[in-house]
Amino acid sequence: MTGPDETRRAFERHRQYINPAWTRVLDLLGYGRLFVRAEGTRMWDAEGRAYVDFLAGCGSVPLGYNHPEIIKAAEASLRANLPSFVQLAPQREAGLLAELLGSRLGPELCRAHLCNSGSEAVEGALKVAFAATRRKGVLHCDRSYHGVTLGALSVMGSSRMRAPFPSLPGCESVPFGDLDALESKLKTGRFAAFIVEPIQFEGGVRLREPDYFVSLASLCRKHGTALVFDEAQTGLGRTGTLFAFQWLGVVPDILCYAKALSGGLVPIGGYSTSPSWQQRAYGRLQDCELVANTFGGGSLACVVARRTLELIDEPLLRHVREVGQHLGIRLRELEGRRAMIREARGRGLMWAVECGSPTRGLGSLLTLGIPNLVARELFAFWIAQRMMERGFLTQVPAHDQNVLRIEPPLVVERQEIDGFVDALGETVIENEDFFRFVRSAGGRLLHRQLGEPGEP
Ligand code: PMP
Repeated sequence: MTGPDETRRAFERHRQYINPAWTRVLDLLGYGRLFVRAEGTRMWDAEGRAYVDFLAGCGSVPLGYNHPEIIKAAEASLRANLPSFVQLAPQREAGLLAELLGSRLGPELCRAHLCNSGSEAVEGALKVAFAATRRKGVLHCDRSYHGVTLGALSVMGSSRMRAPFPSLPGCESVPFGDLDALESKLKTGRFAAFIVEPIQFEGGVRLREPDYFVSLASLCRKHGTALVFDEAQTGLGRTGTLFAFQWLGVVPDILCYAKALSGGLVPIGGYSTSPSWQQRAYGRLQDCELVANTFGGGSLACVVARRTLELIDEPLLRHVREVGQHLGIRLRELEGRRAMIREARGRGLMWAVECGSPTRGLGSLLTLGIPNLVARELFAFWIAQRMMERGFLTQVPAHDQNVLRIEPPLVVERQEIDGFVDALGETVIENEDFFRFVRSAGGRLLHRQLGEPGEP
């Protein structure tokens, strides 16, 4: 089968057997590509076009696709006929991974529980807090993203994603960055955990000063609430240190990780805590099985994760800091100079470009035909599609669809960054007249037709 046919059939299969609405959204956005090969920072589609990937599987491909060392470790593990999913004895590979994690995280986070995804890691972290404190409530932040299982969804800072499902009782949100709001809730003594991302990534790459985290940690301690850092996105080198808590100068009580630990190959998640939190939660003989799960700590995943962790070493972290700084400087050159780009923000290799808002323009018109997913703000989608045409992959985060998320593999090279930012600048220049039209006269016209008020 040749390229375009192969693409069409794959979309058709997806439409028929997996998720028709999602396939329709991809069509509407003009993202109709089938990726069939990947190596390093590159992917190729079925029609032979090459792309540099600045999305990296939403952060789950830290070393690039099919890194030779990761493939080697996986192959060796498969050839060794290791037992997997052994339920009645310690799994050697899980112990080796936990030991390495412990040595990189320090004694206050030296107990690891391994599972299969970020959502499951969040579930596990909340369960530690519930079991240890015997309290029922959980605090989280507005715009937070912690996963899509029911417990994780209950602390999701987006009503759009939570609304169709029942939530755990006692989950409440506070504004990200607001210590007074946090303290007034913590004082009630109702909350087992406060879960927070060091940088809200799906919320649109929102950062707060380290002081905020230092203060919230002491408030949590004062009120006996477990501080949970969800580092599914920020972890494993993304922000220039192995974990973000290391530059924040705050050690959480429970740390969640996932995505990048997979080495881009085998799903894995986990959470680490101190011996004392673990003991309080599951120290009694009758409680030790409350954390059991069938696949967690499986041999193949642990071998791959351990090799991944070894490869995210100090030289690679230095590389992330260096090229990340370069990326930030280059993106900020675009900021403010173009009406279409409002702000660039980020740290390490986790960046956002926020677009000017077309809320009263084209967004409304197109939203009529596009499902909720696309909401009213559309320029970031538009830019992402144009960037795809130019051979660069990016996307928008879950909760802020007027933002372009930029998270290449950690091994990205400076020239690739320059190529990406140049293409972004050209895309913006090329589409600026259209953008202005939509925001002003065009927007007014469209709104008159739609019966909505135009821009002043
Ligand atoms: N926590 C955070 C901070 C995330 O960004 C995500 C995924 N985007 C998750 C948890 C959920 O991870 P998963 O999709 O592996 O369940």
